[in-house]
Amino acid sequence: MSLTKYKEKRHFNETPEPEGSGGESVGSLHFVVQRHDATRLHYDFRLEMDGVLKSWAVPKGPSLNPRDKRLAMMVEDHPFSYRTFEGVIPKGNYGAGIVEIWDEGTYTAEEEVDNKKAEKLLLNELEKGEIKFTLHGKKLKGSWALVKTHGMGENAWLLIKHNDQYAVEGYNSEDHISPDSKINKERSVKKKPSLPQK
Ligand code: MN
Repeated sequence: MSLTKYKEKRHFNETPEPEGSGGESVGSLHFVVQRHDATRLHYDFRLEMDGVLKSWAVPKGPSLNPRDKRLAMMVEDHPFSYRTFEGVIPKGNYGAGIVEIWDEGTYTAEEEVDNKKAEKLLLNELEKGEIKFTLHGKKLKGSWALVKTHGMGENAWLLIKHNDQYAVEGYNSEDHISPDSKINKERSVKKKPSLPQK
């Protein structure tokens, strides 16, 4: 898997984001959901596959309600080391704004196979445009699918929660933000009247 696009879009002497090559994960496959206050506030959903993070930008954030089929725009692969990235991408850089981790954990292929087979199976599902997986996160749990759509643009997928014991009726990811959220702190500061400049 290539990180060419990822590297092309970024200037690593300016952004604190990891330049990292693929990287290797031992054992379980990981996922992360980052909340990203860029031009627009959105969520980035990333699944580890083949040493990189397959990535989708989810404008409305993931939902535990199976009725919410969340648009997920596939973006460039990110390095595995991006899994732990939180920080501020400076103005003028690609994706400028605050990135914070919203959820993280491990995931497994829906079909029960051992780890080595799981990655092959998942890559095959990715190719076919329908990935079925189980998330073991703090917020996101249970059975999910990412399904490539037709007629909504080349990179448009839908992130869908399957019905199981973790499904809920109403869900808004914005209601599940850590009280330590840097994004929310920054946003509340911006709302206050600005202090006189010296
Ligand atoms: Mn983003």
